[in-house]
Amino acid sequence: MPGQKLTSADMIARLIAFDTTSRESNLALIEFVRDYLDRWRVKSELVYAPDRRKANLYATIGPTDRGGVMLSGHSDVVPVDGQQWASDPFKLEERDGKLYGRGSADMKSFIAIALAKVPDFLAQPLATPIHLALTYDEEVGCLGVRTLITALAPKDVKPKLCVIGEPTLMQPVVAHKGSRRLRCHVHGHEAHSSLTHRGVNAVETAADLVTHLKAMARRKREQGPFDQAFDPPYTTIHTGIISGGTAVNIVPRECRFDFEMRYLPEDDPSAIADELKRYAARLLPEMQAVSEDAGIAFEETNGVPALSAKESDEVVQLALALSGANGTGKVSFATEGGLFQQAGIPTVICGPGSIEQAHKPDAFIALDQVRQCEEFLDRLIERVRR
Ligand SMILES: [Zn+2]
Repeated sequence: MPGQKLTSADMIARLIAFDTTSRESNLALIEFVRDYLDRWRVKSELVYAPDRRKANLYATIGPTDRGGVMLSGHSDVVPVDGQQWASDPFKLEERDGKLYGRGSADMKSFIAIALAKVPDFLAQPLATPIHLALTYDEEVGCLGVRTLITALAPKDVKPKLCVIGEPTLMQPVVAHKGSRRLRCHVHGHEAHSSLTHRGVNAVETAADLVTHLKAMARRKREQGPFDQAFDPPYTTIHTGIISGGTAVNIVPRECRFDFEMRYLPEDDPSAIADELKRYAARLLPEMQAVSEDAGIAFEETNGVPALSAKESDEVVQLALALSGANGTGKVSFATEGGLFQQAGIPTVICGPGSIEQAHKPDAFIALDQVRQCEEFLDRLIERVRR
């Protein structure tokens, strides 16, 4: 039995109906896509998470003896908890030329439009294959794509180029900042609060370190490096979580905080972390004079490398030609693109919808954006067919 043709809007509605908030399994969506592709006789490979609760999907349409153009997107969405929506976020609703639903902008529409185009991809012999990649857990640190990249590594034939359809209003984005997250554990020494000299105050030490980070952030803001194509045009550093202490009359033994850098492609995140570590080392003698086992430890919790492609790169030229855009942009949010680039797959970001609508209540995709994405893929077919 041949597959069923769906319009882009129908396919977007199907994908949005799966609650793929990152904490949930995405397998129902992945299996739906696998079955849909099966009916079009396109074989897909599922690359599971270690706990098998989630999976990436990878499929190739066209010749399998050479690398082609990979269309990639993440299947997970951010939570709707605490958000006021005018309609059910998991039921696509059309109002005023816009399709509303969680994931409509970020980024199920791109995946859905590409899937709806599969019959057209198949309608003619392709000289260059089109690969489809759906990933999991992008929103919680680009986790799924790492297992996909590991699975692609030993293959004889790998994608030659990649377009990630994160929402850029169909404008090719050639660079994004990288992100690096660290957790700092301060281990002090407990004492009665009337005897502060016999304790090592972990909260105060952490505060000292956080203050130093803030000074480093100010230095980046004032002295750069700068790249005006980013908003803001410099590397940012911020502390997002802190917790420590148990009672006001106890000198706290433990404190930990999580901080993050969003760095320009030209900046060096390790140098930032190293500067803080050197500062921490200077605090140790005073701490250890009171208690030998006092200490400060750092742990890297997540990192996504920056993406940086050149205007002259083949993938950028392709995205420019397919989108009809007359320029490229850079964005501050990280994507899976930095990881694909690091794995040797040149990548550009270009997808329908706006990041302005992403992650918010009443997220939507404008129908005009859907149409522009369809045209992008139609031009891709013209490019890759024999
Ligand atoms: Zn996204």
